[in-house]
Amino acid sequence: MRYSQMLLPTTRETPAEAEVISHQLLLRGGFIRKLSAGVYTFLPLGLLTLQKVSAIVREEMNRAGAQEILMPMVQPGDLWMESGRWQHYGPELLRFRDRNDRDCCLGPTHEEVITDIARRELQSYRQLPVNLYQIQTKYRDEIRPRFGLMRGREFVMKDAYSFDADDEGAAKSYDRMRLAYNRVFSRCGLDFRMVEADSGSIGGSYSHEFMVLAENGEDTLVLCHNCSYASNVEKALIKAPAEKPPVSQQLEELHKIETPGKKQVATVAEYLQVPREQIIKTMVYMADEEFVAALVRGDREVQTVKLKNLLGADIVESLTEEQVWTALRLPVGYIGPVDLPLRVVADYEVMSMVNAVAGANDKGFHYEGVNPIRDFSVQIVGDVREIAEDDACPLCGGSLYFKEGIEVGHIFKLGTKYSEAMEATFQDSEGQQQPFIMGCYGIGVSRIVAAAIEQNYDENGIIFPLPLAPFQVILLNLGPNDEILTRAADTLYQGLQQAGIEVLYDDRDERPGSKFNDADLLGIPFRLTIGKTFAKEGKIELRERRSGETTSLPLTEIVEAVQAHIQSALATL
Ligand code: ATP
Ligand code: MG
Repeated sequence: MRYSQMLLPTTRETPAEAEVISHQLLLRGGFIRKLSAGVYTFLPLGLLTLQKVSAIVREEMNRAGAQEILMPMVQPGDLWMESGRWQHYGPELLRFRDRNDRDCCLGPTHEEVITDIARRELQSYRQLPVNLYQIQTKYRDEIRPRFGLMRGREFVMKDAYSFDADDEGAAKSYDRMRLAYNRVFSRCGLDFRMVEADSGSIGGSYSHEFMVLAENGEDTLVLCHNCSYASNVEKALIKAPAEKPPVSQQLEELHKIETPGKKQVATVAEYLQVPREQIIKTMVYMADEEFVAALVRGDREVQTVKLKNLLGADIVESLTEEQVWTALRLPVGYIGPVDLPLRVVADYEVMSMVNAVAGANDKGFHYEGVNPIRDFSVQIVGDVREIAEDDACPLCGGSLYFKEGIEVGHIFKLGTKYSEAMEATFQDSEGQQQPFIMGCYGIGVSRIVAAAIEQNYDENGIIFPLPLAPFQVILLNLGPNDEILTRAADTLYQGLQQAGIEVLYDDRDERPGSKFNDADLLGIPFRLTIGKTFAKEGKIELRERRSGETTSLPLTEIVEAVQAHIQSALATL
């Protein structure tokens, strides 16, 4: 492609709206343009990279035996009522009515549609297993679309769905996808980890996420120094304490104490001269339609995903101070479990606290000498706190560390959640009707474009991993008005194309400086420069974007050298 003929609007300024580097560089490099919040157009260069990702995903899905289909984006509300998600999905599901007044939605995911296909088209165990996938535009009315392609409202996803006759088959289907996902992200040239994950609103029993390691990640990974343990922090389990140690301390009497204006754990601790571990932190949430309180030690955080699972709730939401006061007349900052008229979930650790401090449910007051069971009752005891870096590895007891990551893929074992709700059955070998055992497998195709940049950039711009680069080579002609240079550049352009190398030919009448800047910004892995050295010595410069290494070669050797570089770069993946 000739640069002069391409819609490639690069800019020097960093757009104010873009907080993260991938968003800034995608805008500056002319890869994408915003239409509305979380909704983007892919310009030619952006589309090329998106297509690179799609092609890798497609190849690996096909290799794993999945079959490509394409499902509609507009889905009938009836199907979502059958699965029960019309009620439960919440405002991320964009709903509307058609001219016949029928409920519709834009597909945020396709379990309902695929289950409907399965119940119509798959009758016998002999037709199983089946895995169907698509690469398609999804719509989720995200509450906070942000970071450009990272969290859009409209985005491209690969979603696959497996149907099996029994658990054993379903486990095999899951493993096949797990391997395929590892191949996909390796082939994309990304540094990633597979972690244990929560199965989220989709439900089910088993799930893994694939995380690209990057500082701007919205997720936190928990990793072990000693073993292969890797988990999303939401999921990372903390072992129940083996046995409650015998209480050696004298139990104090419960007494109320004035703590004016002391609402934070830290300020209460300082004011009362107690360690934070001595304080019971009481947090109020809305779980589905019910207010609940969660108790953790003062130096810990409530992990709402764990809370949701302990309660068996669909949605757990935090509340503002005002909401809690209006609905419950409870003063946030002074809430505690003593005489609390709510269902209480307590973390294991709280149950072994002795003579603790807790809010008195009275503005400006706390209790001292609070002892579980004696002073308050708890409906559920469990693992409800977020794991900390100083916790022991749940697998081996080793020491842990955290890393930030971007979720680019997610695989779930769904079981029979949808097949039962939607009566999707097949006839087994004994002639009985059985619900399909399902799995679902998503990849954020457009999010990968952003994640790849978050992991690969420098102060001059993007450094694309070769497999995702929109072009493999950028060829700069620094003398577009010089006949000799232009003839050489044209010849090389043709030679590269004939060799099957993807090349962007910068034939513009621009200053060398801006050509170099654009080449760096766009992140194309190899740069060829035809300039002064060619006029003098007949040499062309080959430069690698990532390492900055340069070599100078005669025109006749360039194509082969580039081919060799490309091959060796791909061989490392
Ligand atoms: P997240 O926790 O980031 O919201 P999710 O659990 O809702 O993700 P899934 O429903 O599992 O995501 O979707 C499969 C994949 O689609 C995710 O792993 C992610 O890569 C991608 N994805 C999800 N939501 C978005 C979005 N709003 N914008 C871009 N990609 C997304
Ligand atoms: Mg989501």
